[in-house]
Amino acid sequence: MASKLSSKSGINPKFSVKNRTIKELDYYLNGLMEGNRYILSECITLIESTQNLKRDAGIKLLSALPKSDKKSIRIGITGSPGVGKSTFIETFGLFLIENGHNPSILAIDPSSQINKGSILGDKTRMETLANHPKAFIRPSASGNILGGTAAFTKDAIRLCEAAGYDFILVETVGIGQSEIEVDNITDVNVLLLQPGAGDDIQGIKRGVVENADILIINKADGQQLDLAKQTMRYYKNAIQLFHHDTKGWSTPVLMMSAIENTGVKEVYQAINDYQKCLTDAGIFQLNRQRQEMKWFEKQCDEMMHKIVFSNNVINKSFNQLSKEVRNNKISTSAALAKMEVVFNSMIKSN
Ligand code: GDP
Repeated sequence: MASKLSSKSGINPKFSVKNRTIKELDYYLNGLMEGNRYILSECITLIESTQNLKRDAGIKLLSALPKSDKKSIRIGITGSPGVGKSTFIETFGLFLIENGHNPSILAIDPSSQINKGSILGDKTRMETLANHPKAFIRPSASGNILGGTAAFTKDAIRLCEAAGYDFILVETVGIGQSEIEVDNITDVNVLLLQPGAGDDIQGIKRGVVENADILIINKADGQQLDLAKQTMRYYKNAIQLFHHDTKGWSTPVLMMSAIENTGVKEVYQAINDYQKCLTDAGIFQLNRQRQEMKWFEKQCDEMMHKIVFSNNVINKSFNQLSKEVRNNKISTSAALAKMEVVFNSMIKSN
């Protein structure tokens, strides 16, 4: 009845309200080329969508992005909660604008699937920057995004660059995995620390310090200034024991105050120096290509796992065998051998 009525009345029976918001590819491409922030937001919404039609439009858009020779730098900002990341981004972002740049700020939160967190959504954070016409701020994605929030952020970076943003600041708001994940989508990693030496006091893992390209002791002001100086000396000594992956680079340890606006220029200089070091060594682009490869492999693995375990026979065998392993009825190696038979027979039957 409904479809008869629809065809007579000229209404597309497949029309759905959800699809109405998808526009022509040119609308998005032109919007990006014009640096339209509203359209940039719409583009990011497409790629973070869990609806197939929107996601497909997002993939088409990413494939259609023109190659740009405009230089950009992707900076990861990590550090324990409360160290001053968002205050730093507000101060640093405004400094960048004063120096002729267009910053864009994205947040990455691998734990957001659990807490649906959208910390950047809090309006009080980065208030001046958020209202500045030259900046673009996108809150952390929440919910279940295909491939995870880090993979999504990687695509969002490309959209920001297409819209003309040259400094992409990626803030990690989650804990644990996030520092490692951000390493796979950025060119430079900046780790914020606070006055008070020792990784245990900072609430960070040792590997995170080794992974950083630039260390900043924030809150070097007021009564904490002397402690900040001590902390800087501590990390300058500690960092000598590490060997940085990039030849010719020794990780600088800087001091700044995001609130008093001191030491910001030195941070900017250090980022530029590191970019130059990567470029001179011929690995700036190479690192980005390696990251793309890594993502492709990682997402292929995840996709394969999902497809394989959506097969009933495989799923059932796996559940049965893991129960037997748990109850000591079968050894792990015997269970694995059985799974191998199941996998192989499924592949052959296809
Ligand atoms: P985040 O959780 O790492 O993003 O930290 P926030 O930027 O929200 O800052 C946490 C607290 O530290 C806030 O109360 C800030 O006002 C304060 N803070 C941030 N930067 C500085 C700084 O440079 N000096 C001082 N004294 N306080 C700061």
